[in-house]
Amino acid sequence: AEPLLEVRDLRTHFELEDGVVKAVDGVSLTVRRGRTLAVVGESGCGKSVTARSILRLVERPARIVGGQVLLHGEEPSGEPLDLLAAKDQRMRQVRWADIAMVFQEPMASLSLVHTIGDQIIEAVRLHENLGKAPARQRAIEMLGRVGIPDPKRRVDSYPFELSGGMRQRAMIAMALSCRPRLLIADEPTTALDVTTQAQILDLLQDLQQELGMAIMLITHDLGVAAQVADEVAVMYLGEVVEHGPAESVLTAPKHPYTRALVRSVPRLGQRGAGRLEAVRGTVPPPYERPTGCRFHPRCDLFMAGSCDQTVPTRVRSDDIDVACLLYDVEEDL
Ligand code: SF4
Ligand code: MG
Repeated sequence: AEPLLEVRDLRTHFELEDGVVKAVDGVSLTVRRGRTLAVVGESGCGKSVTARSILRLVERPARIVGGQVLLHGEEPSGEPLDLLAAKDQRMRQVRWADIAMVFQEPMASLSLVHTIGDQIIEAVRLHENLGKAPARQRAIEMLGRVGIPDPKRRVDSYPFELSGGMRQRAMIAMALSCRPRLLIADEPTTALDVTTQAQILDLLQDLQQELGMAIMLITHDLGVAAQVADEVAVMYLGEVVEHGPAESVLTAPKHPYTRALVRSVPRLGQRGAGRLEAVRGTVPPPYERPTGCRFHPRCDLFMAGSCDQTVPTRVRSDDIDVACLLYDVEEDL
């Protein structure tokens, strides 16, 4: 499938009094049309900041300091639209209508004082020239599609009247009400019990089939990634260290970090089994990025004299892009 969204060398820094935290420090990844990319990695590796940066939803002290976010199929010219360079007004059109986002905790993005229906209606009417009655009809239809029972009644519910699982469904209904081409879902099931989690993942896959949208799913759970992803991007300390087809990355990973992650999951492919807490050592403090390869203090295959001095560039090995000196043999030729 063709690329839909290409993130190139994205950099988002937190400019704090004590120094600069490079939360996103050269992220490159691709989401393909109608496909699912899972972005995995331990917490604190910059996954969420990457997602928010794509939609330019970062706030001070965070600042996007470099890179490109290219959305294809947007301009009549055929050129991709660089979201980081787009005017604010253009960006407002892109949000919801082209790229929608759901978060771990729907209460953070739903308004507490408006009904679910009114919030969906507002989102739809902001982007489409629809009257109130057809927009309400769309809201009811979307609530039904995401499996909310009795949508004609539920459309007038307030978020607090719904269970956690139902709220997440309502959030997904809202996100999809403008029929975006890309859904960015940041840990959409992490706060839910295992059964509800499975239902929401199934729902996302069904809706993807139906609407033909692409999904960028952020998760710390390799089991979830194995379940839904076509491709996987592995993040470590603000960069993508491995990117390729899900099957290859999850069954025959190249990067020592990914290998450790995969080893830490006893039965990969089983839901809920894949907490990424078992890699040796801990993520270093944010102000102290290791020199050379950022993973070197935790790496089993550390090579003194090179891994602590040379920054690996991403190279192609089989069908995987990987940033590790074990594969970066160019200089030896
Ligand atoms: Fe390990 Fe060296 Fe590869 Fe980094 S470059 S992942 S330290 S082998
Ligand atoms: Mg996060």
